[in-house]
Amino acid sequence: MKNCIFCKIINKEIPANIVYEDAQAIAFKDVNPVTPVHVLIIPKKHVPSVNYLGFKDKELIGDLFLIAQKIAKEQKVAESGYRLSFNVGKDAGQTIHHLHLHLMGGEKLPFA
Ligand SMILES: [Zn+2]
Repeated sequence: MKNCIFCKIINKEIPANIVYEDAQAIAFKDVNPVTPVHVLIIPKKHVPSVNYLGFKDKELIGDLFLIAQKIAKEQKVAESGYRLSFNVGKDAGQTIHHLHLHLMGGEKLPFA
């Protein structure tokens, strides 16, 4: 989608520290990390948020979690622990309206 920063990363129009890529998804380090390990896993298809997912996206969503699992191992947080979260809408602090799964770890996270 035009003017979507994540679509631009997918199209390699803007650089990102990409840690994983396949035909359906891409993962890269958050430019403003809030934890030592902070990776965003996103579908290549532009979906604004969880609110816009349908049953046809079941496999795609499952893939995002399996990619997260793989990255957690690579980033050495699989055993120490990590958080996976989708922020949806303004009250949750979603600032980029292209679905993204946050993978955060590398330190003790606040319980929330
Ligand atoms: Zn997008």
